[in-house]
Amino acid sequence: MKIIMLGAPGAGKGTQAERISKKYGIPHISTGDIFRANIKAGTELGIKAKAYIDKGLLVPDDVTVDLVMDRISQEDCKNGYILDGFPRTIPQAESLTRALKARGTSIDHAVDVDVPDESIIARMSGRRACLTCGATYHTVYAKPAKEGICDKCGASLVLREDDKPETVKQRLLVYHEQTKPLIDYYRKENVLCTVDGTQDMEKVFLDITKTLGCLLYTSPS
Ligand code: ADP
Ligand code: ADP
Ligand code: ZN
Repeated sequence: MKIIMLGAPGAGKGTQAERISKKYGIPHISTGDIFRANIKAGTELGIKAKAYIDKGLLVPDDVTVDLVMDRISQEDCKNGYILDGFPRTIPQAESLTRALKARGTSIDHAVDVDVPDESIIARMSGRRACLTCGATYHTVYAKPAKEGICDKCGASLVLREDDKPETVKQRLLVYHEQTKPLIDYYRKENVLCTVDGTQDMEKVFLDITKTLGCLLYTSPS
């Protein structure tokens, strides 16, 4: 199964993608996580991406598309994957559609996690990220066992530089201009489902598994 997560920055794409990944046993591919890992490692890609990310802008399509095409060609993606944060522009979506078509396949579901802008800024100020393993927490809604420390790897948690309110506002502008049109794109492809992302995480996950028609579904643990 090949799934795309759509939604504004902070809508809960990563949180839900992680759960879907576990449930279906398919890899969770987050372009944001890949960029952040490259920034941390000081690679050429990381240096290039950082200049855009810090300003709340998108990394150019050619860089991003190549990265994702390479990733989905890997062995662990042969039974499907969840793309979280890609595509983010119409040209990215068209490149993906073309590449999949050439392989005789297509996206099965595009899940739009719908959260209004008003809720986003408040939610983002509480997000805490582990830049070592990519795990995400929230100061109110998803607390780690020990404040400021990642449950999974023990590294310190940080407020991402681009999660500060000024940059979030810019990212929301970019979202409305460049990413939101993808909702119509995937509606036309007949694969869109929309879930109310303002509900608590468990309920959002329940709604997603229902719309995916998940026969494997069991109660969230
Ligand atoms: P969020 O989780 O808030 O939606 P991400 O971690 O997905 O944010 O992305 C962080 C930043 O990385 C984006 O603001 C953007 O600069 C860059 N980025 C991630 N995915 C893409 C993409 N598909 N195209 C261009 N830039 C991207
Ligand atoms: P995205 O990947 O879309 O940017 P995240 O999954 O990182 O979003 O979620 C953004 C922040 O909001 C995180 O701190 C996360 O713990 C929190 N969060 C995610 N889903 C919910 C929810 N349904 N209710 C409250 N907080 C949430
Ligand atoms: Zn960690």
